[in-house]
Amino acid sequence: MLSHSPVLLCDMRFVDPADIDSVAVEPDYCHRCGTEVGTSVFEGDEYPWCPACDLVLSRSPVPGVHVVVHDDSDVLVLDEPIPQHEGVLSLPGGHAKSDEGPKEAVVRELEEETGLRADPTDLRFVTILHAEKPRVAFYLITYAVDRSAVSGELNTEFDGFDAGFRPLAEIEASPDRIRASDLDRIQMAFEG
Ligand SMILES: [Zn+2]
Repeated sequence: MLSHSPVLLCDMRFVDPADIDSVAVEPDYCHRCGTEVGTSVFEGDEYPWCPACDLVLSRSPVPGVHVVVHDDSDVLVLDEPIPQHEGVLSLPGGHAKSDEGPKEAVVRELEEETGLRADPTDLRFVTILHAEKPRVAFYLITYAVDRSAVSGELNTEFDGFDAGFRPLAEIEASPDRIRASDLDRIQMAFEG
């Protein structure tokens, strides 16, 4: 996790879009040199552009990673009673640190959040989800790993924060307890 606030850090499952305005909002000034941003036109579209750096300032989605740890029937989910999470189950994951690849990031987040360890070479690619909120968008790279390939004891990161294997059938029977996009990715992992 990245530290934006002291307790509930900047895991994108918790993120308040206001915390990452600098990435998501059209810039007024160049982040490199401070020059007022102008406009560059490329193939008919206008982009924010720094005339001093000759740099297009892209309003790119924020990358994140998730992992579906599962066996033939059960999947690892987090149950975190925090307002940002809207009372639903979620997948382990977060943001990559600078210079950290997505597989390394998701393995680190898995261990931080659940105590379970996985080898990046055991991860299977599942999908990339493009998730949009009013002021920010995410590309969420999703991997899967077999439960038999992870080691360690379940040991959650915070008090009142639960992580455990639950039957997929139980989760499917309570669709109000999980985001549709998370359930979709879990099902894709089981099918893969
Ligand atoms: Zn500049």
